[in-house]
Amino acid sequence: MSKISEIFGSNVFSDAVMKERLPKATYKALKKTIDQGLPLTSEVAEVVAGAMKDWAIEKGATHFTHWFQPLTGITAEKHDSFISPTGDGKVIMEFSGKELIKGEPDASSFPSGGLRATFEARGYTAWDCTSPAFIKDGSLCIPTAFCSYTGEALDKKTPLLRSMEALSKQAIRVLRALGNTTSNRVITTVGPEQEYFIIDKKYYDQRKDLIFTGRTLFGAKPPKGQELEDHYFGSLKQRISDFMKEVDEELWKLGITVKTKHNEVAPAQHELAPIFSTTNIATDHNQLTMEILKKVALKHGLVCLLHEKPFAGVNGSGKHNNWSMATDDGMNLLEPGSTPHDNEQFLVFLCAVIKAVDEYADLLRVSAANPGNDHRLGANEAPPAIISIFLGDQLQDILEQLENGSATSSKGTSELKIGVTTLPALPKDATDRNRTSPFAFTGNKFEFRMVPSSASIAAANFTLNTIVAETLSQIADRLEKATDVDAEVQQILKEIVKNHKRIIFNGNGYSDEWVEEAQRRGLPNIKTTVESIKAIINEKNLAVMEKHGVLSRVEMQSRYEISLEHYIKTINIEALTMVDMAKREILPAVIKFATQLATSINTINATGVAADVSAQAELLTEVSTLTASLKKNISALEEAIEKAASLHGDSYEQAAAYRFDVFEKMAVLRTDADKLETLVDKDIWPLPTYADMLFNV
Ligand code: ADP
Ligand code: MG
Repeated sequence: MSKISEIFGSNVFSDAVMKERLPKATYKALKKTIDQGLPLTSEVAEVVAGAMKDWAIEKGATHFTHWFQPLTGITAEKHDSFISPTGDGKVIMEFSGKELIKGEPDASSFPSGGLRATFEARGYTAWDCTSPAFIKDGSLCIPTAFCSYTGEALDKKTPLLRSMEALSKQAIRVLRALGNTTSNRVITTVGPEQEYFIIDKKYYDQRKDLIFTGRTLFGAKPPKGQELEDHYFGSLKQRISDFMKEVDEELWKLGITVKTKHNEVAPAQHELAPIFSTTNIATDHNQLTMEILKKVALKHGLVCLLHEKPFAGVNGSGKHNNWSMATDDGMNLLEPGSTPHDNEQFLVFLCAVIKAVDEYADLLRVSAANPGNDHRLGANEAPPAIISIFLGDQLQDILEQLENGSATSSKGTSELKIGVTTLPALPKDATDRNRTSPFAFTGNKFEFRMVPSSASIAAANFTLNTIVAETLSQIADRLEKATDVDAEVQQILKEIVKNHKRIIFNGNGYSDEWVEEAQRRGLPNIKTTVESIKAIINEKNLAVMEKHGVLSRVEMQSRYEISLEHYIKTINIEALTMVDMAKREILPAVIKFATQLATSINTINATGVAADVSAQAELLTEVSTLTASLKKNISALEEAIEKAASLHGDSYEQAAAYRFDVFEKMAVLRTDADKLETLVDKDIWPLPTYADMLFNV
């Protein structure tokens, strides 16, 4: 491997490349747009396009594409080559400012939730110059936002960019009111930790469920699961290590700062984390990371599963969305410092987050909802579907002081004594970790742990940005009017703690007691994706998105429809796959096995030897009973699918039918099949087992 410093960012049209290749005036103008959000002129775009093209061609690129994130949840690209005929049978390589700024993909095949009438199929992509262009597979990729002919957002990036502006605006108002005169922008920073599974491709290829749905719809528990906890942080197997090395290298080339990698709790599960960056860049990078993980895995004869719950009974995957706010002059607004009790700025921003999370818990919940995550939230390895905040002892103590008057002390940090003199004394963190909280304060940032592993992090972040922008705007309104700002700050903090302390929970979020306690506190516990989707069109939520210009009412309505549609389609595919596998793979195998048993009984009996065939007979009875039940439950599922599919009048009603009828029947069908798997001859069983997949890389 070449030196990291040489390959890092080598496929990125980065700031350094721009500085080197653009005329000074153009570079300055572009930087103004990037850093201060000033509009971009067509002259500047023209020059930038030329430089980008030359750079890309030198790097071997032949095509360019606007790279965007439609509401399908994955990225989209349409490649055009740079070639332009010259009329004499030759070509030149061209790329104009116009092509850089604007693309016109046919939008009719992307989800729009009724936003775009079919006769207005036109969609536009617009260059997001705040996220650098890069080269991938011989194409220059230009990060863009995607909107309809009438300007409505059809993607995940547009609301994200809007929310970043909204938060910056309100945060600066608060900072000014607190006496800050130097900061000009506030950016939100994100570092997403990505969990995933790796299995051998030869097993994947034999499982239609993995191929069509990304998760196993059948599969008995293996004799060994994760109970020994011997996988977590375990040393990497050679094949995995080789795969990870290549992933690192590919990501570094794209300027993605992957830093940490390790085995996760479940067998075959791993995690990767980059160093945090600006939210929209972190979002783009996370999309690329998921893509690279999949691609590189294939090169190694492996398959990367990003689904939230590929294997029942084994931990699923999430994304820990580490989030904070920072000023353009380098201050982390969630940095408590060594004496947080007298850090007014920190306490204001902390309390703004607490209030936002409490008031908009339902919106935050839906921002982390997808069909896969329903298997995780509330199961034993992930936070429950109840949103709560972990603060830890020190901050908890300060909030209590604030509520009772003013905060005068911070519980100190100390040194950790390991008891061996040759080991260094370690500074002890002010708070312990809490892995069970969905929204945990972790030193100088919040970690939103509910986010689904396969989803874009855009929704979680534009939601967070917007709701915090809202509480900051309320705080700014008061501070701007106050004659005694310090006294008003104390008053605001006190009120927030009093009114919103119910959202703070420092205990074990996975316990049953917490579920009951949360109910007493009146915190919502929205268990399913379908139910959570209602929050999108709740008046309070429509109002906050509209007020901050993040999503209009029409755009929210369209997202409501798309989310339901996506749920319906996902469960429909899962259910159909299940029926297909049960009928054409499992049932025939089971019948074959039953026949084998019957043949054995007959053959032995025919010999006239008085041999005991009770084992075969018992097994045959057991298998036949389960087979009859399996067959019955296949028919029940088929009926449920048909019924749900016929309900197209109201999407909510239809989604509910898929969740509360189809989905339930899938679980019933699975039980029979999984029991049969433990009885049937392994040479006859048609599917690779959990043991094969989880322990054979
Ligand atoms: P932990 O291991 O406690 O979860 P790390 O320090 O390893 O925490 O960080 C986890 C992720 O959080 C990394 O991606 C890291 O870059 C990110 N992170 C650290 N500081 C911030 C911050 N101020 N804003 C956003 N993300 C951050
Ligand atoms: Mg973490």
